[in-house]
Amino acid sequence: MSTIAFIGLGIMGGPMAVHLVNAGHTVTGYNRTPEKAKPLAAAGGRVAESIAGAVPGAEVVALMVPDSSDVQDVLTGDDGVFAHAAPGTLIIDFSSIRPDVTRELAAEASRRGLRYLDAPVSGGEAGARNAALSIMVGGDGDAFEAARPIFDAVGKTVVHVGPSGSGQTVKAANQLIVAANIEALAEAVVFLRAYGVDLEAALDVLGGGLAGSAVLAQKRANMLTHSFEPGFRVELHHKDMGIVTSAAREAGVVLPLGALVAQLVASANATGDGGLDHSALLRGVERLSGTA
Ligand code: NAP
Repeated sequence: MSTIAFIGLGIMGGPMAVHLVNAGHTVTGYNRTPEKAKPLAAAGGRVAESIAGAVPGAEVVALMVPDSSDVQDVLTGDDGVFAHAAPGTLIIDFSSIRPDVTRELAAEASRRGLRYLDAPVSGGEAGARNAALSIMVGGDGDAFEAARPIFDAVGKTVVHVGPSGSGQTVKAANQLIVAANIEALAEAVVFLRAYGVDLEAALDVLGGGLAGSAVLAQKRANMLTHSFEPGFRVELHHKDMGIVTSAAREAGVVLPLGALVAQLVASANATGDGGLDHSALLRGVERLSGTA
């Protein structure tokens, strides 16, 4: 069992930190807005008022914050993780950020005698609540083995995909696939509604065939009831589509569908849907079809 500092107790980090406590680890959480640390405290975790209050003495520092700049702030800030972590500490970044930024941070961690894994996750809020996340891990193989008990406490499918940054690259591909899936499902829903088809029956039968998907299973209720409380916010998916399209450009590969879906996610964000669940791409299709 490990002593863990967990930074970022939002939609994903909150339930993940609770699972770590329930698995027997000693967890000290820190969240910028203290209110969100309540579930961790109720589960028996300790709550710190700053990074400096959480990190000293931790064998593992886990992060779950939104974007590349947030991870940079948390790690490299004057009073950040790098300033307080003892040599040998293992940093696990569960956030979804740019692979190139990850590689830079991992190199800086190594210069400071720290170990670093990128471990972005997939499975949504439900995956975090049910400890059923898919975790794609980049970094050193020994560090991966050391972190296994932590991954097993929050995830179901845990795979070491390669050296530092690889987890983030796989996550970028994940987000391309998920956005394209949601957009296709949203377009199918608008199409079916236009023909007055029984939507529940249609989604039942589609879900049993080749059109079935985790996206259909997890997002059908949002689309049927037109309720888009996050979940995974459109603004975060907009960030991720920026990551995948710019990484593809750097690699010299072409993602025509990804580019189009990135624009549709950007439109959802620009038209005020950034705070909604990404299943709200349905609203964009409805706007385009004049059925909003
Ligand atoms: P969230 O609910 O917004 O939580 C993010 C947490 O990070 C918040 O508690 C926030 O604190 C904290 N934070 C933000 N910026 C910070 C900073 N600069 N310094 C310190 N703390 C900061 O987001 P989330 O949905 O959990 O997503 C977190 C990461 O997981 C993202 O990279 C996202 O892409 C990824 N992800 C999300 C899902 C999902 O379904 N939600 C699924 C897979 C992966 P405050 O409370 O003060 O705002």
